[in-house]
Amino acid sequence: MAVGLPVRKPFHYSIPPALKDKVEIGKRAWVPFGPRRLVGYITGFVDRPEVEGIKDIISVIDDESPVIDAELLALTKWIADYYHASWGEAIDAALPGPLKKGKIKAKPRHPLAEEEYEPTGNFKPTHEQDSALKSIRESISKGRNDVYLLHGITGSGKTEVYLQSIETALKLGKTAIVLVPEISLTPQAIERFKSRFGSVVAVLHSRLLESERFLEWKKLKEGTAKIAVGARSAIFAPVKNLGLIVIDEEHETSYKQDDAPRYNARDVAIERSRITGAAVILGSATPSIESYQKAAAGEYRLLKIAERIEKRALPKVDIIDMRQERLDAKEPKIFSRALEHAISQVMNRRGQVMLFMNRRGFSTFINCRKCGYVVTCRYCNVSMTYHFDTRRLNCHYCNYQADPPEKCPKCKSGDIRYFGIGTQKIESEAARLFPAARIARMDTDATAKRGSHGRILSEFKKHKIDILIGTQMIAKGHDFPRVTLVGVVSADTALSLPDFRASERTFNLLTQVAGRAGRGSEPGRVIVQTFSPNHYAIEKSIEHDYVGFFAEEIKFRKELNYPPFTHIVEIKLRGRKEERVIKAAHDLAAILSEAKGKPVEMVGPAPEFISKIKGQFRWNLLLKGEDPKAICGFIDKALDNLRGKSGLIITVDVDPMGL
Ligand SMILES: [Zn+2]
Ligand SMILES: [Zn+2]
Ligand SMILES: [Zn+2]
Repeated sequence: MAVGLPVRKPFHYSIPPALKDKVEIGKRAWVPFGPRRLVGYITGFVDRPEVEGIKDIISVIDDESPVIDAELLALTKWIADYYHASWGEAIDAALPGPLKKGKIKAKPRHPLAEEEYEPTGNFKPTHEQDSALKSIRESISKGRNDVYLLHGITGSGKTEVYLQSIETALKLGKTAIVLVPEISLTPQAIERFKSRFGSVVAVLHSRLLESERFLEWKKLKEGTAKIAVGARSAIFAPVKNLGLIVIDEEHETSYKQDDAPRYNARDVAIERSRITGAAVILGSATPSIESYQKAAAGEYRLLKIAERIEKRALPKVDIIDMRQERLDAKEPKIFSRALEHAISQVMNRRGQVMLFMNRRGFSTFINCRKCGYVVTCRYCNVSMTYHFDTRRLNCHYCNYQADPPEKCPKCKSGDIRYFGIGTQKIESEAARLFPAARIARMDTDATAKRGSHGRILSEFKKHKIDILIGTQMIAKGHDFPRVTLVGVVSADTALSLPDFRASERTFNLLTQVAGRAGRGSEPGRVIVQTFSPNHYAIEKSIEHDYVGFFAEEIKFRKELNYPPFTHIVEIKLRGRKEERVIKAAHDLAAILSEAKGKPVEMVGPAPEFISKIKGQFRWNLLLKGEDPKAICGFIDKALDNLRGKSGLIITVDVDPMGL
């Protein structure tokens, strides 16, 4: 049996005679576990247990059919093996909350009313959409697990291709799963599916109550719903006869789960299609380097849509070299002359502006001019951010707050300066330069209150706001036809991170942000401020040239042996005592480097970029190799030596998204 604990081995229980006819693979049962009682999943039977002194199953929970069918058992087993998790953890991830807790029923107190949607028909596909559809339809009807990479720029109508492909699957009596990143799973996005397909659509997202989610899950399990639309975990939708899986914005990092099992829903989808013979569409305007490489190598089939709907022009992007700007101006300025001028022009024409900055707060860095002391968080190794609205210092990692110091705590000098630009400073600078403009800010500080996120967006849509300032929250999805200018105040924040995906992130972000301009009839303009105007991630994003970006990026990945040329397995070590964490990291490295015939290259051990968060010291060890399963097998023994050492948390992350 498997239980949802981080122990990577099966547990054995005996079957009392009275339960003999009830046990079945895939059913849940209550089992004794030490002094506790846990939900266990029946994964197999043996004649002779491998251990002694085994206990009886208490009772079988599922009366009729098993909650986990053979397909999901195989899929969760694959996840456990590939992502170094336990099978029980993987099954837990695949089931709705009430089932994990051993319940059979869960009725929402106020069942969701079936909303009415205006039915819509198919749009006539463009020539490009049509030829993409032809091959996808063939794969679905022949039951081939082909993977398509649909590379279409923002606004090229990828969704219409998804919808008409789903229609094909339904006509053949098959089902479909559609994954959309949580942040893009808006009521409008859901409406597009419901208005086309009506009540056979079940929606699984985190805003639903557990009991509501369970009802949607049941509709899929019982077959009354045939299309599952949802975020990451919808990849486990219990549909039968799966014909198609769609992953929209396949490059999104939110498809990767942070806790065990640390799976990437995109890669799980590929495995599920291998098991079931379903076709897969991976859609993106900026495909992940991994997926595009597979398409280039012929493993995936590349479909391109280059045209925008109604042939809307792509926005014109201008780059401002802030090095030159700084030389020309007498003091450092937040807005370049070009950006300031462009904003005032748009304000005069009563248009709307979006300003993008990927850092929150007012000043992100406070330091003593005399001795160089930097104000850092008590619990994290990060500098504190000054917030203008509260006049307090705040740590963005643990939310610790403090008053700004009047004197340097170290040398008692009063010469304390505030540096670093966050969204709040941009807000106040914009208010100073454009006193007549109505300005709002959207970041996690401003949207902490429930509903404020939607309120700001709808006010912006109704043009009650002229200038919207925000973090990546504003980069997503929403169409604002009156926005003709998008300003990227600093393109460099993501670029400077010590992560091999820094360029990819920057390119994606700039492409997405630029896509916000010119969604209406007027052409858009984008101004990008940067200190590294010659970096290829910035140059290629200005030219809207993904393929050119890929060609540069893949060279860098190859040279340094990063994914997609290798897989990375990250071993993370955490603990409150720094010496213990460091010692354990070095012990582990020593054991691993002694091992013979190792399938890996080892990097580290080293402290992480942020070496302490919430009082816990953080070290890691990276292993690179061709086969993650071989790496995991290789490290298991070494990890056993360290497991159970007090005050130490060790986790393994296969194919990590952020380093
Ligand atoms: Zn903040
Ligand atoms: Zn000082
Ligand atoms: Zn902190």
